[in-house]
Amino acid sequence: MISFNHIQKILTDNNPTNIEALAQEASSLTRQYFGHTISLYAPIYLSNFCSSHCTYCGFHSHHRIKRFKLTDKEMNQEMKHVADQGIENILLLTGESYKVTPLSYLMDTVTVAKQYFPNISLEVHPMEEDEYKTLFLHGVDGITVYQETYDRERYKKVHLSGIKADYDFRAGTAQRAAAAGIRSISLGILLGLSSNTSQDLFDLYEHLSFMEKNYPGVEYSLSFPRIQKIKGEDFGKVYIDDKTFIKIICLTRTLFPRVGINLSTREKPELRDHALKLGITRMSAGSNTSVGGYTLKEPQQQDPQFDIEDTRSVKAITTLLKEKNLDPVFTDWRRIQA
Ligand code: SF4
Repeated sequence: MISFNHIQKILTDNNPTNIEALAQEASSLTRQYFGHTISLYAPIYLSNFCSSHCTYCGFHSHHRIKRFKLTDKEMNQEMKHVADQGIENILLLTGESYKVTPLSYLMDTVTVAKQYFPNISLEVHPMEEDEYKTLFLHGVDGITVYQETYDRERYKKVHLSGIKADYDFRAGTAQRAAAAGIRSISLGILLGLSSNTSQDLFDLYEHLSFMEKNYPGVEYSLSFPRIQKIKGEDFGKVYIDDKTFIKIICLTRTLFPRVGINLSTREKPELRDHALKLGITRMSAGSNTSVGGYTLKEPQQQDPQFDIEDTRSVKAITTLLKEKNLDPVFTDWRRIQA
């Protein structure tokens, strides 16, 4: 049983001996349950149109940025570029616009993606169960949906309008996706958004436990992105330093030995390299967070959703993993075509 007091104790304990013991336990559990493997994936941003207003995001509807959506030809170009780097696990992202990137657009995208990648995940607007069913039958393996914060008051203050402002609809997304047959689901919180990190973590763990109990056939993973400034403006309530961030990864591993933990390129290379030994099981590589950012040139190329700290190529990350005696895994899943 997960205890709030335990989480709070770990996050506030700065005794180096205790932190080292936590790190050792996390490292040992990760190797025990995942061996020496690290899965690699890359994101492709399809569109930055968004009808929601989340104050902390560069894509929000009130932001005067140039909006752009990939055409079929551009999708092919971007996907071929990423696939040529060896990536087989793709995360396709859009802003939340039901009009500009409706289900039909996502279906078309998946049709193209299937030519390049055996494993396809989406991070797009939340949908109804029948829509997830349609996507699953069309070839979608995974859904990423972060609640950002489980603090309802704070959620309301930073999600001003649009579908994302509906806390309950978002919170129920994982259930609808799981009920529809989606094979892997990634949950997460935006660290620093809430002033009470321990409470947010507790609520995330409770959410995950609920999902594991009710939908045991799904493969779950967690992500802990840290909030970043937009053009110098800070929307964070608290600053999550590197030590706390690492403790969160280790704590998560000790509480959920079998759950995947993702790490994106928004973190610095040194920290990513360090976290590899402790609890991370899946990381992005060679990423670009702009729409068309891999292959399109000005004037189409857009501002990124967030800045990347780790710009190393897929090849460089692969070499690094091998040097650390870890096996890079490009895919561990292929659908058998009927
Ligand atoms: S977080 Fe998502 S829904 Fe919110 S503004 Fe950004 S892209 Fe839109």
